[in-house]
Amino acid sequence: MNFTIIAETNGDSLHPTTYQLIGAAASMGSNSTVICPNGECASEAAKINGVEKVISATGDCFSVFDGGAWASALSSMCGKMILISASPNGREIGSRIAAKKGIPIIQDVVSMTEGITVSRPIYSGKAMESLTISGSAVISLRPNAFEAALAENDAPINIIDQSADVRISIQEAINKASERLDVTEADIIISGGRGMGTIENFSHLEEIADTVGAAVGASRAVVDEWGMPHRMQVGQTGKTVTPSLYIAVGISGAIQHLAGMRSSKYILAINKDPDAPIFGVADYGIVATWEDAIPALKSALSDLQS
Ligand code: FAD
Repeated sequence: MNFTIIAETNGDSLHPTTYQLIGAAASMGSNSTVICPNGECASEAAKINGVEKVISATGDCFSVFDGGAWASALSSMCGKMILISASPNGREIGSRIAAKKGIPIIQDVVSMTEGITVSRPIYSGKAMESLTISGSAVISLRPNAFEAALAENDAPINIIDQSADVRISIQEAINKASERLDVTEADIIISGGRGMGTIENFSHLEEIADTVGAAVGASRAVVDEWGMPHRMQVGQTGKTVTPSLYIAVGISGAIQHLAGMRSSKYILAINKDPDAPIFGVADYGIVATWEDAIPALKSALSDLQS
C-alpha cells in the first residue's frame, strides 16, 4: 500500500511530525509519496527513508495558509490513503480533502497496525476506539505518537504547479508575536493551574522553562479567569500535547485537562492536595505547595547544569 503524506514545515525545515508520519507509514511496510505544499523542504523530504517520491506542489494559493485553497489544490495529488499531522492546520486540510473526495477522516490516531487497524482516544481520553479501514481514508496522526523515520535516502522530486479555484483569497496571515516556544512544539512543558494563585506567579514557571528549554502551558481556569492566551491552554478545548515530560503545577487534573496531556511520555504533578486527580495519571508526584516545590526544582536544575 502507498500512503500519501502531506508534509508540514516550520518554514525552512520539515516539522518533526513529518518524519513521524513517514515513520508510521514505513512501520506498515509502505513507501510513501510526500507532498510538500509550496515546494517547501522538498529536498529535505527526499532524504527521508521510506519516501518513494516527493511532490513539490507549487501555485499562488500556497503563499499563505488557507485550508480551503490548499485542500482544493492538493486533493487531486493524493492517493487512496492519506496521512497528515493532527495539528490545527493538518486537521483542517485533512477534513477538507476528505470532504472533497467523499471519504472518511479519522482524526488523532495514536497507533496503526497492518490491516489497517487504527486506534485513537475518545471521550476525552477515557476510552480507546479501534477502527479497521477497508477503503480510502484520511488519517491524522497525533504528534509524537509514532517513531520518526531516519534520513538516509535520495528520492526523486516532481514539481506540480497547481492553482486552486478559490472564491476568497487570504492576502496575509499575521502571527501573534510570542517569544515563547509553542506547547505543541515542545518536548518539555511546564503548565500552571489555578493553584498558582495569580498570573504573575507564572514567572516562576517561565524561569524553569527557560532553564530547560520548555514551553509554558496553562489550564483553562487560568485562561478563562486570568486572561492567559488561549494558545497556551492544554486540554479538550485547548491544545493536545504529547511531550516527553509534562509538569503540571497547581492543576487539579479535571478530565478535560487530562484529555490534552495524558498521553505525555512522563508526567510530573506538583499539587498540595494528595487526593488531586492529576496524581492518578502522574508518573511522579510531589505533594507540596508550588511555593515549596518550585524553588527546590529550580535549584536541582541549576545544580544539574553546573
Ligand atoms: P482547579 O480545579 O481549581 O485546581 C487547582 C489545583 O491547585 C487544586 O488541585 C489545588 O489542590 C491545587 N493548589 C492550590 N493551591 C496550590 C499551591 N499553592 N500549590 C500547589 N497546588 C495548589 N480545562 C482545561 O484545563 N483545559 C481544557 O481544555 C478544558 N476544557 C473544558 C471543556 C469543557 C466543555 C468543560 C466543561 C471544562 C473544560 N475545562 C478545561 C475546565 C476543567 O473542567 C477544569 O475546570 C479546569 O481544568 C480546572 O483548572 P485547574 O486545575 O487549574 O483549577
